[in-house]
Amino acid sequence: MTIFEKIIARQIPADIVYEDDLVAAFRDINPQAPAHILIVPKKPIPRIDVATEEDKLLLGHLLLKAKEVAKKLGLTGGYRIVINNGPDAGEAVPHLHFHIIGGRKMGWPPG
Ligand code: 5GP
Repeated sequence: MTIFEKIIARQIPADIVYEDDLVAAFRDINPQAPAHILIVPKKPIPRIDVATEEDKLLLGHLLLKAKEVAKKLGLTGGYRIVINNGPDAGEAVPHLHFHIIGGRKMGWPPG
């Protein structure tokens, strides 16, 4: 069971900002910006690489809820949605998650 499954199951605490039947969104424990939220599917898909056609609606739902969370947090100046896939991207938790990062100016290209 990954740390994110434990958060979904309320086995470890997290600051959950949004939840429905399919997804949960909570504040990152090590924020990289004034707003840093992780939105995850409740279905334990390890990473975007292994998502399938079956996950099409779920992936769309995640993106739509990500922008709703950004709006709820008042990120009117913009925000970034990031998916880290695999070791070169720095993926640390093998449970698909979108980072929603905002509240400051972002650099480009990302590091
Ligand atoms: P990744 O590097 O896999 O894309 O991102 C994993 C993210 O999960 C990191 O930003 C890290 O700070 C966050 N994280 C790791 N453990 C916990 C935890 O126990 N609680 C919360 N809220 N975030 C966590």
